Order: sequence, then C-alpha cells, then structure tokens
Amino acid sequence: MTPSLDRGLIEALEERLRFYRDLGLTELFRRPVDASGPAGDAQRNLSGPATSVEAAVATTSESIFVEEESPIPARKGTVAHPAATIQLVDHAAALRVIREEIGECTRCALHKGRNKLVFADGDPNARLMFVGEGPGADEDAQGLPFVGRAGQLLNNMIGAMGLEREVVYIANVVKCRPPGNRTPEPEEANTCVQFLFRQIEVVQPEVIVALGATAATYLLGQRQPLAGLRGRVHSFRGTKLIVTYHPAFLLRDPRQKKEAWADLQIAMRELGLKPPTRG
Ligand code: URA
Repeated sequence: MTPSLDRGLIEALEERLRFYRDLGLTELFRRPVDASGPAGDAQRNLSGPATSVEAAVATTSESIFVEEESPIPARKGTVAHPAATIQLVDHAAALRVIREEIGECTRCALHKGRNKLVFADGDPNARLMFVGEGPGADEDAQGLPFVGRAGQLLNNMIGAMGLEREVVYIANVVKCRPPGNRTPEPEEANTCVQFLFRQIEVVQPEVIVALGATAATYLLGQRQPLAGLRGRVHSFRGTKLIVTYHPAFLLRDPRQKKEAWADLQIAMRELGLKPPTRG
C-alpha cells in the first residue's frame, strides 16, 4: 500500500514547489530515495536550510544559472560544467539584464526621435518567436511591439494558429522607431540587432518567424528577395527560422494572406501544433 503523507508535509512540499517556480525552476527530477528512510529523507529536504539549488541561483550580466545536484545529462539550454550540470533557468531575469544593459540607448541615431524604446513582449520561455522590423508610431508611444494595425493582424495570425499572443515572444530588429517608418539603415540595424540575438539566445525558441524582408535579412545575414525565402525552413544559429510577409504588407495586399498562412502552417508543423478546429 502506498504510504500517505501527512498534511503538514504536503503543505511544506507545496510551498517549496511554489518557491522553486518563483525562481524559474519548473522542471524537477526525481532521484532514488534512501531505502533506510524515505519519509525522513523527504522531511530533511523540505525543512532543512537552503539547498545547493537555492544557494547557487545567481544573477550575473552574463546569464542566470542554477547548479543541479545530480549530473543530469545536458539538454538544450544547459551548459556542461566540470563540477556540475549548469542549467539556464530564469529567462525573464536574463532578459531584464539585457534590457538594463540597453538602458537609455544612444548607440545609433534612431534614439533622437524616440519616445519609448520597444524591447519586446510575451513569454520569456516561448517556443515560438516573431521578429519584426522596428516600432511604428503606436509602438513608439506605448513601448510595446506590434500594438497598432499591423499588430492587430499579427494577433489574428497568432490566433489562427490556435495560440494566444501571451504565449509567444515578439521583438524587432531595431528597438527605436525609424523616422517616418523608413527601413532601418544598415548601421542602425547592425548595432541594435546584437541585442535581438541575445534575446533569442535567452528565450531559446524552437521556431522563429521572421516578419518581412528586414527581419529575414538580419537573421539570415544576407539580403534576398522575400519570395525566394518563403515556404521553407531556414536556420538561425541552429534554431528553425521561417520567413513570411510582414503584417503591414498584408494589410496593403490582403491577397497574400493565403501565402502567409501557408508559412505559419510550416511553423505549426515544426512545433507539432494542429490548426484549431473551427466551431
Ligand atoms: N512593425 C514592426 O515591424 N514592428 C512593430 O513592432 C510594429 C510594426
């Protein structure tokens, strides 16, 4: 018969799990328990002082790491360390570090016309990431990407995939609005895109969707006509990259929405998502 746990132990366990979740530790692994006293072992682990997991959580300008006690083989998102397996756990905190480093940026001329810098929006642990070109007037006013008309269409595209905007991560090649919504100059884009690369490195999406030619150019590292890039899976530093039309272009030429939907279906296939059934 399975022994039942007492109420106090269950509550302590729940509290400890909430604590781990707040730290960003959402995956826990079971280790074989000591046959001489499983309940006592569990009790010691719950009521004792901070374990090495808690003690090792540290925020650095590089990344947020936590040491694991057992040598679990390195997975995606883990870095093998001679002494322990070190796992990147807190994507949100790591993104805050990048945002702080950007600061009140004056690295390129775009800062001169900026109202609000647009860092990103969405889930720091997202499996799917969208990359646009740069903020427009609405984004510059609100400090969030894709909140204007093009953003409304992007929300609809995400909805068509059966997802909520909150579960994806959205960012741009440049974080400040180019005057008159012009395409960012190479110097502006090359300066700013380094931060986008770091955001991608932290979020570790499984699939990136590049919205339009600017995003495709800076993620692929080469300029090519969009038509030749659509409809297949590319790679950005090992992450699957799909190129499709920018929602602002789709607002101007809605006939291309069918093509964009075909691209999004490639992204869904790569993520193992099924299109929602229409009711
Ligand atoms: N267009 C973009 O490329 N990005 C935004 O955030 C808004 C419009």
